[in-house]
Amino acid sequence: MDYDVLVLGGGIIGCAVAYELSKYSLNIALIEKEYDIADEVAMVNSSIVYDGVENSDTLMSKLEVIGNSMFEEITEKFNVPFKKCGSYIIAQNYEQGKKVQEQYEKAIKRGISGIEILDGLSISKLEKQLNMSIEKAIYCKNTSVVAPYDLAIAYGEVAFDNGVNFKLEEEVIDIKKVSNGYKIVTNKNKFSCKTVINTTPGVHYDIDENEKHKSEGNINILNSMLINKRNLFDTEKIILTQNDKGEIIKSVNNVSGNSLFIAETSTNFDFNEMKAVLNNYAPGIEEKDVKEFYQTKYHKDPIIIDDSLIDNGYIKISGKHYAQVTMTPSIAKMVCETLVVNLKAKLKKDFIDKRRDIFRFRELSNKERNQLISVDKKYGKVICLCQTVTEGEIIDAIRRPLGARTVEGVRRRTGVTFGDCEGAYCFDRIVSILARETNKGINQILKSSKGSFVVKGRIKEFNEM
Ligand SMILES: Cc1cc2nc3c(=O)[nH]c(=O)nc-3n(C[C@H](O)[C@H](O)[C@H](O)COP(=O)(O)OP(=O)(O)OC[C@H]3O[C@@H](n4cnc5c(N)ncnc54)[C@H](O)[C@@H]3O)c2cc1C
Repeated sequence: MDYDVLVLGGGIIGCAVAYELSKYSLNIALIEKEYDIADEVAMVNSSIVYDGVENSDTLMSKLEVIGNSMFEEITEKFNVPFKKCGSYIIAQNYEQGKKVQEQYEKAIKRGISGIEILDGLSISKLEKQLNMSIEKAIYCKNTSVVAPYDLAIAYGEVAFDNGVNFKLEEEVIDIKKVSNGYKIVTNKNKFSCKTVINTTPGVHYDIDENEKHKSEGNINILNSMLINKRNLFDTEKIILTQNDKGEIIKSVNNVSGNSLFIAETSTNFDFNEMKAVLNNYAPGIEEKDVKEFYQTKYHKDPIIIDDSLIDNGYIKISGKHYAQVTMTPSIAKMVCETLVVNLKAKLKKDFIDKRRDIFRFRELSNKERNQLISVDKKYGKVICLCQTVTEGEIIDAIRRPLGARTVEGVRRRTGVTFGDCEGAYCFDRIVSILARETNKGINQILKSSKGSFVVKGRIKEFNEM
């Protein structure tokens, strides 16, 4: 057998599962079809860590509650940006107030802690600037924000350092059951393994034919505006409310200092429609304050952990859900516990539960900055002025385990080009550093995926850019 366990898919769940399994004496590999792990995690690198109150499905809510309770420890251990900011679920009229009251009572019955129901008067005393009429609100103290790429990459790095073999740019084509395990056929190789954990949502192999879960088509549109302002609603807290058309409205301060305003609707909004909705809550926001406007799908399929074939060594995690990042630590732990019992695996004595040091220059004091520069002068050269990212950080992002190989990979690991100029100043410098560090020509550097060359071709000879 090539491996004890093959994890299929290097999204946040695949990486978290690989991390949990790497604590055991097992021979593990993870197969991901893209250039990088966590390729599909949310664009703006901020996810809400829900507390289970908003979820109508009891089982999904439970996964959120367990996941939420694990975030503080994991993010501290891995040095991942995380903030327990709290949230308000706000009812703006009497009818919504009845629903919010029911939601609160349900949450209490589910045993969710850290919540309080407040009337409009109490909220307006706490949050004097909130520009909306408030009938009632649930104050959820445990809701937080996290940088999901950082978390997924951290899970991957620690798993890698503890022996997990990552196979990137390799697509699984088929899974075959053989007498004592599985044969995994990819576009490049064939591997044999005792057990498989399949985390590729929406990909169906013959082995999945008895799969109980089918997408429920429960998809809405998330119209999102990234706003160049912190505390859009003049509060640090996440706001979840419903407008008079029944559309869900969310406002989140993300981990990189901007606000994200989201309207969940059944159809796409154009820019002006979305701005009109935003201005109902934040009248002063103008077009120039909008950094990005984009639409994504909003999934609410239940996540199914199908271990019906566990006796044969196969677990499939399927479904797409808006709170999947929140559920990740609980799903990974649960899957791992099931599998290690099945494999009778033993904990490793030499497991290192630590991520290699990572320095974010913009977050350091001047004293710390000087110390860092005295060790490596490249931390004294700022490449991205808007986000204050240094050459040292970019080189580290490339040289780390599972390091960046594309501009997008550097962007996700360091925050370059997330600033106001969106890369106008630093893009070519990042490309040059990538080419130098990976020993490639500038015309071989990719923006993100296969074929996405940043330089299309030469128009004249040059030695450097
Ligand atoms: C706009 C948006 C906002 C979100 N906001 C939040 C939030 O606020 N809070 C929250 O908790 N969650 C949030 N989520 C949910 C969360 O980000 C995603 O659901 C989560 O990242 C999914 O992780 P995954 O590992 O299950 O799946 P994926 O990220 O889809 O990972 C699956 C991986 O498998 C790989 N793969 C697929 N097929 C193959 C194959 N044949 N061979 C090899 N590899 C393969 C894919 O390339 C991919 O990397 C949001 C999602 C979106 C889209």
